[in-house]
Amino acid sequence: MTARFNLGTKPYLGYTDSVVERGTELRHDPTAIAALEADARARAVVISGERVVMHKGMPFNDPTFTLAAANAVSPKQEQVFLGRHNGAPLFGIAIDPDATDALKSRDDLLVTDLRSIAVGALVAPPHLPPLAQAKAVLAWHSRHRFCSNCGAPTQVVEAGWRRDCAVCDAQHFPRTDPVVIMLAINGERCLLGRQQRFAKGMWSCLAGFVEPGETIEDAVRRETLEEAGIKCGRVAYFASQPWPFPMSLMIGCHAQALTTELKVDRSELEDARWFERDEVTAMMLRQHPDGLTATHPHAIAHHIIRAWLEADRSLV
Ligand SMILES: [Zn+2]
Repeated sequence: MTARFNLGTKPYLGYTDSVVERGTELRHDPTAIAALEADARARAVVISGERVVMHKGMPFNDPTFTLAAANAVSPKQEQVFLGRHNGAPLFGIAIDPDATDALKSRDDLLVTDLRSIAVGALVAPPHLPPLAQAKAVLAWHSRHRFCSNCGAPTQVVEAGWRRDCAVCDAQHFPRTDPVVIMLAINGERCLLGRQQRFAKGMWSCLAGFVEPGETIEDAVRRETLEEAGIKCGRVAYFASQPWPFPMSLMIGCHAQALTTELKVDRSELEDARWFERDEVTAMMLRQHPDGLTATHPHAIAHHIIRAWLEADRSLV
C-alpha cells in the first residue's frame, strides 16, 4: 500500500453544523409562535424558488431580514419557523419567484441561487444550514398545496411543519428524499463518473435515489451496478449532507468493488473510469496535468474521496 496523503485542513461541508436550535416543541403552540414573531430579535431568510434574497455586503452578503423588512420585499406565500439562534427566532419566508426579477434592479439586494452562494462563499458559513433548511421545507410547501389523498387544498399548521387536509383529515409532513452517493474502491483505485452537466474536466462519485423497500447498502450496490456495471460487496457509511435541490439527503458511503470491468450506462453518465490514488490526489489539489478536477469542497463527494485518500486503513 502506498503512503497516505495529507490534504491539509478539512474544508467545510456545505449546509452542515447548523447553529439553529429547531425548537420543535414550540411548533404546536400558535401563541408561542406569535410571541416569537413579535420578538424584536426575530429575523427571516427570504427564499424565492431556487433563489435567495440577500442584503448586499462585504465581505459577505447578509441573508437575514427583520420580519417587517422581509414582508416589504414581496408578499409572502408561506412562512415556517426554523428555530432559534442565541434565543433570536429565525423564520423562513417564501415569496413568488415571478416577483423576484423586479428585485434584481434594487441596488441594496442580491438575488441568486443557493448553489452559487455555497460555492462562491457569498454568505458567512453559519447562514448556509438555515438557508438549506428553509429552501427544502419551502420547496415542499410549494408542491403540496393540495392533498395528495383527495385533492382538496391543504392548510399549513405546526408553524410550517405540517399541512392538514380539512376534507379527508390527512396530515402531510415535509419529506426528505434519501440519495446514496458512493465511492467504489478496488485496492489503490477508485471509481469516478462524469455527468454531461458537470463542469469540463470534473469527476465525482456515483449517486442515485434510494428506492422504497431498499436499504442504503442495497441502493449503493444497485446504483453502482446500474451506472457502471461494477458489483460491490461491503458498504460502509461515511457521513451525510442535506442537499436542498430540492429536498434531498445525501448519504455518503464507501463500497468494496468486487469486479473491475466497466459497463457505463451512457443515459446516466457521460463516462466512468477507474482512477489511481496519485491521480485523484492531483485532481483534489488541482494539480492534474490535464486539468482534471474532483468535486468542489462544499459537496460531500469531495469529502468521501478525501477520506479514502487520507485513510490509514481499509475503509470497507
Ligand atoms: Zn384530503
